[in-house]
Amino acid sequence: MISPDWIFTPQDGHEKPGKRTEMQEHAQDLPFVGISACLLGQRVRYNGKHKRHHGIIRYFQDKVRWVPICPEVEFGLATPREPMHLQGDPTGPRLVVSCSGVDLTHEFDRWLFRRLDELSCENLSGIILKSRSPSCGIGSVPIFVDGNQEVALAEYSSGLFARAFLLKYPHIPGSEENALNTAEDMEKFYHEILDCHGQHELSVAAKQD
Ligand code: SF4
Repeated sequence: MISPDWIFTPQDGHEKPGKRTEMQEHAQDLPFVGISACLLGQRVRYNGKHKRHHGIIRYFQDKVRWVPICPEVEFGLATPREPMHLQGDPTGPRLVVSCSGVDLTHEFDRWLFRRLDELSCENLSGIILKSRSPSCGIGSVPIFVDGNQEVALAEYSSGLFARAFLLKYPHIPGSEENALNTAEDMEKFYHEILDCHGQHELSVAAKQD
């Protein structure tokens, strides 16, 4: 997980040491939700910028505990970095650095295998990911036939992290930020998060019995 100090609390956006308040006690019961770190405002994008999503942060700020994840930075890529894209077979696309043509698929998959196992410890009850990203997008990432990005297949796929996460954890609800455009969208997704969180709580209680 990227910098632990980025776990947001409802009061002020950053966890701080000190005496626990009633709100902080309440925060202990909130579900953990993974989120693309750039949507929280971290400057981790390929161009050194962020894509802070004010609407999502505002809606969920007193409802969840964020677990920021940036697959590309956690994998070891620098910021800023060369942009990447997905290329080849839409059912198993490769992750390619756009200018140099370097194929990172194999190394990225090896990192993914380990990282997805670690995420089981985070008790996530949902995940919100950045659309169109070759790592984070869910069904919105254009697939290119080859290194010439002007030639895209008429197909869209999911980013490598998103695809692997949702396959490994099919019970955890996942959404792109582009699918959370309205208060109704967010409320519906929040109920899915609460359902998943309720299942976690039940299984923890069952283990303690
Ligand atoms: S879209 Fe995903 S991989 Fe890209 S900067 Fe955001 S969190 Fe990192």
